[in-house]
Amino acid sequence: MVAFETQLDGPALADLDRCVHCGLCLNACPTYRTLGLEMDSPRGRVYQMVQVTTGAMPLGPSYVEHIGLCLACRGCESACPSGVQYGRMVEAAREQIETHVKRPWRVRLVRRMVYGRLLESRFLLTVAGTLLYLYQASGIRKLVRAMGFLHLLGRLGDLELLAPSAEPPFFFGKIGKTFPAEGARRGRVAFLAGCIANISFARLNEATVRVLQRNGCEVVIPEGQGCCGALHVHAGLREKARRMARRNIDAIPAGEYDAIITNAAGCGSTLKEYGELLSGDPVYAERARQFAAKVKDITEFLAARELNRGMGRVEEVVAYQDSCHLAHGQRVRAAPRQLLKCVPGLTLRELPAADICCGSAGVYNVVQNAMAMQLLERKMAAVNATGARIIATANPGCMLQLQAGAQLHGTGQRVMHVVEILDQAYRAEPR
Ligand code: SF4
Ligand code: SF4
Repeated sequence: MVAFETQLDGPALADLDRCVHCGLCLNACPTYRTLGLEMDSPRGRVYQMVQVTTGAMPLGPSYVEHIGLCLACRGCESACPSGVQYGRMVEAAREQIETHVKRPWRVRLVRRMVYGRLLESRFLLTVAGTLLYLYQASGIRKLVRAMGFLHLLGRLGDLELLAPSAEPPFFFGKIGKTFPAEGARRGRVAFLAGCIANISFARLNEATVRVLQRNGCEVVIPEGQGCCGALHVHAGLREKARRMARRNIDAIPAGEYDAIITNAAGCGSTLKEYGELLSGDPVYAERARQFAAKVKDITEFLAARELNRGMGRVEEVVAYQDSCHLAHGQRVRAAPRQLLKCVPGLTLRELPAADICCGSAGVYNVVQNAMAMQLLERKMAAVNATGARIIATANPGCMLQLQAGAQLHGTGQRVMHVVEILDQAYRAEPR
């Protein structure tokens, strides 16, 4: 049983008041496009936030449901002509729910384990990654899939498809090391390797380092770094996220690097908001602002430089799916497309509604699986129509979702990060 109470905190009224209820954001909202319900539109959610924040409506199950069904994709923010900061408001609403709603004990236990322990601990992530690897390598996963057992599990079967793979050797072994620039050094950057990505996207992280080296960067992977806190922010656990932000700020002195690089759009969006996250902390506020100013998505960083064109051909048709936290959260849309167009032999096909969320949205596809799967099915129909053999994107979470989409509704497409395609092009060039 979930317990509720009424309270007045949550999103700032000054933020909420910016919404003039024009409705220009409705068509940009994946849940509104799917359900056609005002309560599941940005405008409807803003209205509910105002009601709860002013005490006109209790913080009850209906509010929890409609705020919970929001992907926090921020598509509405890009569409809004009044500059409504929807992402910030929904995060505050989730913090409000987190503070005042008592969840069932099993949910609390899982959340405590994942957000309070697993994501913060290199040791626990390594243990989890090793167990996952044994499940995959022992053939149990193949057997389970081949026997069609997943279909019997219904939604649980979908969740198994979304589970990340373990990729030993894990990237944790590279943390604390420095990788020299290839050719003349044109810069020195710090690379943030993420948390789960060290286990499940170890090859992507290695490709990122190689591409940076090929582009004249000395790449430092600072010891002491950890999870950025993005998943915590999205779950309404801002205090925990602040702890993680402080840890990364201590580990990575911003003044020593030209840029702090991430290859995960979801992480980048939060890392760029460290200044805001720690604005009330007298010790860290200024350092957080300096840190955030140095954060760059890998595609944004590379596209702003003179790219090393020493690439071999990649004869592929590629469709690019925007990652919401890159397109809407960071307003980076042109850079990944620009990089893909630089790859010899590659044909880039524009995907209709490429900036509508695929349903990944952090752990949304796990906790709101039914809606996530509807969005994915629609997304894959659009991908299939392009005839592309590769789906490119810029965020590991989107990659997992699209990989599941390719298996369930696709035509055998491969899902790759933009930086992996660049890496393939560099490796194809005879040296
Ligand atoms: S969020 Fe922006 S676009 Fe949407 S209804 Fe409010 S003012 Fe209009
Ligand atoms: S963040 Fe995304 S899902 Fe939520 S209201 Fe805005 S567009 Fe809709």
